[in-house]
Amino acid sequence: MSYAKIAPALARASSDKLLRMRFAQERLRSSAASPQRQEKTDESVRDQNCTVVERPVEVDLISQTKNADNQKTNISINFENTQEAYKSKNNLELMRSLLVFKMCTIDFLVDKNKELMDITKKVLGQRLFEKIMKMTFYGQFVAGEDHNAIKPLIRKNQAFGVGSVLDYSVEEDLTQEEAVKKEMESCVSVAEKESPGKDHREKKYKAHRQFGDRRGGVTSARTYFYADESKCDQHMETFLKCIRASGGAAVDGFSAIKMTALGRPQFLLQFSEVLVKWRSFFNVLIAQQGKADMAAVEQKLEMEQLQDSLTQLGVSKSDIETWLTGEKLGSSGTIDLLDWNSLINERTKISKLLVVPNVESGHLEPLLDKFTEEEDKQMKRMLQRMDVLAKHAVENGVRLMVDAEQTYFQPAISRLTLEMQRRFNQEMPVIFNTYQCYLKDAYDNVTVDVELSRREGWYFGAKLVRGAYMYQERSRAAEIGYEDPINPDYEATNRMYHKCLEYVLEEIEHNRNANVMVASHNEDTVKFTLEKMRDMGLSPQEHKVYFGQLLGMCDQISFPLGQAGFPVYKYVPYGPVNEVIPYLSRRALENRGFMKGSQRERSLLWNELKRRFLNGQVFYRPAY
Ligand SMILES: Cc1cc2nc3c(=O)[nH]c(=O)nc-3n(C[C@H](O)[C@H](O)[C@H](O)COP(=O)(O)OP(=O)(O)OC[C@H]3O[C@@H](n4cnc5c(N)ncnc54)[C@H](O)[C@@H]3O)c2cc1C
Repeated sequence: MSYAKIAPALARASSDKLLRMRFAQERLRSSAASPQRQEKTDESVRDQNCTVVERPVEVDLISQTKNADNQKTNISINFENTQEAYKSKNNLELMRSLLVFKMCTIDFLVDKNKELMDITKKVLGQRLFEKIMKMTFYGQFVAGEDHNAIKPLIRKNQAFGVGSVLDYSVEEDLTQEEAVKKEMESCVSVAEKESPGKDHREKKYKAHRQFGDRRGGVTSARTYFYADESKCDQHMETFLKCIRASGGAAVDGFSAIKMTALGRPQFLLQFSEVLVKWRSFFNVLIAQQGKADMAAVEQKLEMEQLQDSLTQLGVSKSDIETWLTGEKLGSSGTIDLLDWNSLINERTKISKLLVVPNVESGHLEPLLDKFTEEEDKQMKRMLQRMDVLAKHAVENGVRLMVDAEQTYFQPAISRLTLEMQRRFNQEMPVIFNTYQCYLKDAYDNVTVDVELSRREGWYFGAKLVRGAYMYQERSRAAEIGYEDPINPDYEATNRMYHKCLEYVLEEIEHNRNANVMVASHNEDTVKFTLEKMRDMGLSPQEHKVYFGQLLGMCDQISFPLGQAGFPVYKYVPYGPVNEVIPYLSRRALENRGFMKGSQRERSLLWNELKRRFLNGQVFYRPAY
């Protein structure tokens, strides 16, 4: 097998790194200048939802307009101010929140929520069931049945300074057995089926029956299972509607998509494996050059030594010269697979590129013997769907958030998103990638991508989250037998989140092309961001830093932020009652952990209700 497929990519990767190095030094200086924040640990924190701080403090913020002397005026946000937090809600809505959160503390209701919903539907009939759901869980966490029904809520939130990220939340209500069957069928290639013994793939990047139902051990996130290509087209149509609705609802709209909805997951698995192996290969070469201890953005391969390494791998001198200086960069080779434009180029035979070096043997190995014509087409269709969505987002003035998923898909998802950013973020940040800070390599991922955006001059857009798949990731790694990708504990994840956030904020300070959404219910993290913004003199009106929370959760964070002029967004799920039941079921489970750990949101709701009743506001109506 020829090395022609890897060397151009290697050349490109290393020249990327050379260029990155220039900026890395500057960035490292700026990072060093800013003191690392000592994390507070909060014992009452569980894994999800509005993280509680025991003693909420007022945060001084920069004013939205600086005065003539360019001095900062302070305004303060008090996350305890229930009047501000619940200004947009009438008393019935507050009582509904109280009821729902209270129900989430009753183990029996949470454990048996699905069965109870089924029985209620059977006994009371569909209409009454829907009514009850709308008065409780559905009303709390879901905005409405379709993009027309959700408009009043979106308008109301907007009037109180809170935007929306539309998130169509319909999920197939599959049994575990059905889910596993679909997963196993869609993650195994024809070649693998034909010769199951002949196996080049790493176990992390293979589907395993016991983890076939990807919904297990997941918080917050929705799961898609592949059925066929027409189902993926339907998902794309839904996302297109969502984008149009977001464009119609606000000037500054966002829409969220999940890549696993857009194609066969087999491609994401294999592409992820290629990327990870390719990165390992780079790491091996870097280690050979004695630079393994350097930060990812600092590492660069010396050309002469690189050529020696390639020669040792059996690449001819003339080939190396051609590859390292040739004009073919981006048109062939493994790294070229990362170039989104060429990926969707009809002339590119993607399957041929799926070869990776075996670091131990020094030989190139195919990930699969071959892809069938149909599998090739499936890959291209997935990329074409993403292209259609990105173009539609641009046309509708909407920004597209690509959600992060499991680590066996995420390298591919992230890389494909980056390729979309390269193409669509030239004038403004249209595409936002998501970085999960519970991952050990989150900081490397963020820094490398930021440096790339700087070098190439496009707008970096990121959503920072802690991560929704922790339990599943951990048990999968333990059972299948690979390294746990998650930080060892919650404090380490907090440190990682703030380190990544600090890096992006510093990037914004240097270069206003970067944008970040702090997607978290953690009050400490929100306060950390506000303090940093104040220190940097970054006005909320510049719309460089956004905040994100889920609908029905942590209004005491979202609304005060919105009313103080910060760009803050709710992820707004919508869909017919019956079809969002899996989502509601997860909300109940997630809120259980949270509600047991703290009664904060309930106590704030109580306080506000009491305040209103004492002030004679029994029929309080939000004015807007
Ligand atoms: C607007 C929005 C968009 C989101 N989009 C995504 C997405 O695209 N992809 C995604 O994966 N998630 C997404 N999430 C979910 C998110 O990742 C978190 O699961 C959720 O927000 C809880 O984290 P937190 O920062 O709000 O709260 P916190 O309560 O401060 O953090 C809880 C989180 O900390 C981490 N954690 C808890 N215990 C440990 C431990 N022992 N060791 C290591 N880490 C630990 C876990 O990630 C856990 O979810 C999104 C959340 C929001 C609000």
